[in-house]
Amino acid sequence: MKIVMLGAPGAGKGTQAKMIADKYSIPHVSTGDIFRANIKEGTALGLEAKSYMDQGKLVPDELTVRILLDRVAKDDCKNGYVLDGFPRTIPQAEVLKDALAKQNDKIDFAIDVDVPDENIVKRMSGRRACVTCGATYHIEHVPPKKEGICDKCGSELILRDDDKPETVLNRLKVYHEQTQPLIDFYNKEGILKTVDGTIDVKDVFANIVAILN
Ligand code: ADP
Ligand code: AMP
Repeated sequence: MKIVMLGAPGAGKGTQAKMIADKYSIPHVSTGDIFRANIKEGTALGLEAKSYMDQGKLVPDELTVRILLDRVAKDDCKNGYVLDGFPRTIPQAEVLKDALAKQNDKIDFAIDVDVPDENIVKRMSGRRACVTCGATYHIEHVPPKKEGICDKCGSELILRDDDKPETVLNRLKVYHEQTQPLIDFYNKEGILKTVDGTIDVKDVFANIVAILN
């Protein structure tokens, strides 16, 4: 099963993608996580991506597509994957579609996690991410057992640089201009499913599972 998660930054794509990956035993592929891992390791790719990410801009398509296609060509993606944060532009979606079509393959579901802009800034300012394993929490809605500490690996939790309100507003603008048109793209492909992302995490997940089953 191949799934694309759509939605504004902070809509809950990553939260749901991780739960889908666990339930269906498929890899969770997040281009944002791949860029952050490269930034942490200090690679040339990380350095380049950071200059865009810090401003809330998209990393150029050419670079992002290369990273994504390399990742999904790996053995663990043979039986499917859930893409989180990719595609973010129409050209990215076209490249993915063409690459899959060459293998007689396709995306099965595009799930749009729908959350209005008003909720997004609050979501993002409360998001905390683990510096080591990337697990995500929210100080009010999805708190860790011990404040500031990751439940899964015991590392420190931080506010991402690009989750600061001034950057979030820019990311939302970029989302509406460049990413939202994908809703129409996947609707035309006949695989778009929309879920209400404002309800409880487990209820969003139950609605997604009902779609996938
Ligand atoms: P995205 O991957 O779309 O950027 P995340 O999954 O990281 O979004 O979620 C953004 C923030 O909102 C996180 O702090 C997360 O814990 C929280 N969150 C996710 N889903 C919900 C929900 N249904 N209700 C409340 N908070 C949520
Ligand atoms: P995310 O973790 O998905 O919120 O992504 C964080 C940042 O990484 C984004 O704001 C972009 O700067 C960059 N990024 C992640 N995925 C993509 C993508 N598919 N295309 C372009 N930039 C991306």
